[in-house]
Amino acid sequence: MSRRTRVAVVGAGPAGAYAAAQLRASRARPDVDVFERLPTPWGLLRGGVAPDHQEIKALADTFEAEVFGRGCRFFGGVEVGTDVHHADLMRHYHAVVYAVGARSDKTLGIENEHLPGSLPATDFVGWFNGHPDRRDLDPLLDVRRAVIIGNGNVAADVARILTRSVDELARTDIADHALAALRESRIEEVVVLGRRGPAQAAFTSAELRELGHMDGVELRVAPEEAELDLVSTEWLDEEGTFTARRNVKLLREFAAAAPQAGARARIVLRFLRSPVALHGASRVESIEIARNVLSRDEAGTIRARTLDGETETIECGLVLRSVGYRAVPLPGVPFDERNYVLPNDRGRVVDGDTRAVVPGVYAVGWIKRGPTGILGTNKRDAEETVARLLEDIDTLPDPPEAGDLPLPDHVSADGWRAIDTTETSAGEALDRPRVKLTTVDELVDAARQPA
Ligand code: NAP
Repeated sequence: MSRRTRVAVVGAGPAGAYAAAQLRASRARPDVDVFERLPTPWGLLRGGVAPDHQEIKALADTFEAEVFGRGCRFFGGVEVGTDVHHADLMRHYHAVVYAVGARSDKTLGIENEHLPGSLPATDFVGWFNGHPDRRDLDPLLDVRRAVIIGNGNVAADVARILTRSVDELARTDIADHALAALRESRIEEVVVLGRRGPAQAAFTSAELRELGHMDGVELRVAPEEAELDLVSTEWLDEEGTFTARRNVKLLREFAAAAPQAGARARIVLRFLRSPVALHGASRVESIEIARNVLSRDEAGTIRARTLDGETETIECGLVLRSVGYRAVPLPGVPFDERNYVLPNDRGRVVDGDTRAVVPGVYAVGWIKRGPTGILGTNKRDAEETVARLLEDIDTLPDPPEAGDLPLPDHVSADGWRAIDTTETSAGEALDRPRVKLTTVDELVDAARQPA
């Protein structure tokens, strides 16, 4: 009889969920235990995807069926590195798959970056999505203008949530505390700063298009800002991606559109601008920005260089730094400090110096490839890692301990289902998809409710 292989997946976000589901669906069909720091699964699907994108959140039903429905166990509220350690996992499992994502943010290194009123956009996203770590963020919304630095999809999400009508948001699963604060918000204008030009905007085209089609919100792009410089024109002609071409076309259309009369709020896209400093006595009062030019570096990448000289000051009371997520090291596991990933060869974790494979340790998702790509990207990424694990599976030595790892109190898959039922039942009465519980205590209490 073939032996039972035990695999621990650390992190229940989309990458971990895809990996767990694929492992269970494989011919080897190992036992799979999913460890998660929060009492709730699905990571950024719950805590990252914006509440006005409910159609994406429906992926949770697939994960539910393909992860827990296929018999993976859930250990929610168990933090690897704190409650249990890498070495503990290695004593009980043949393989450990890290799917911990990138839980911190990049910094800009500008003057007064951390003045009150300046926040990582990722924290703001966690706040409006009811992430327990961001419950008490209390962003300053008592101001007319917000500035977002960076023009990727997180910037687009944040710009929409700041400007969308509260009546629309009230039909989503946005956290109640965020809905209440946004009801009182005085923000009328959101300026989004891209350090490079329109051809290098990091938005995907659907997200950019959506910004131009929100009820009561005007999208403004000055015609001169939608024009391409020579370097970008050449690049777009010769090697421009499909997304870049679509984005440039959309931005030109937006720039040519007549101003929208009677708009309640405005999103302004600016390009070739970088922040130099934030100013304010005790909180952000303005942002100073400089103009950039583009050039190609030796590798051919188009980079922004800030011009010395005149700067521009934009009055604002809220600055959201949306310049990307960043992973943090895990105790006991190699970490690549330059690229903020687990060093790996197609998913097999390797020693950072020798590149020797660390047997039985794998990576998937943002901790494997960096914080890029949409949710679906993780499916293909998981296929690559799972294929490596399945290639190795017969050679992985049996772990020294055969029984279950002793664990602190945790939330099981049934506990999560109880949380889910509590939230969705509360939502039903209000015609909302769910009303989120937003503290660990509330979540753990709900998990203890009998089904
Ligand atoms: P992102 O797409 O990498 O965008 C980061 C932005 O920050 C870029 O515009 C980048 O400009 C800019 N930036 C970086 N360093 C900067 C600096 N020092 N100064 C000024 N600007 C700087 O990251 P993200 O928006 O955090 O999103 C992360 C991933 O999640 C992306 O792959 C995104 O598509 C995905 N996501 C998808 C959705 C969706 O599908 N709806 C929603 C949210 C997130 P450069 O390009 O010049 O570096």
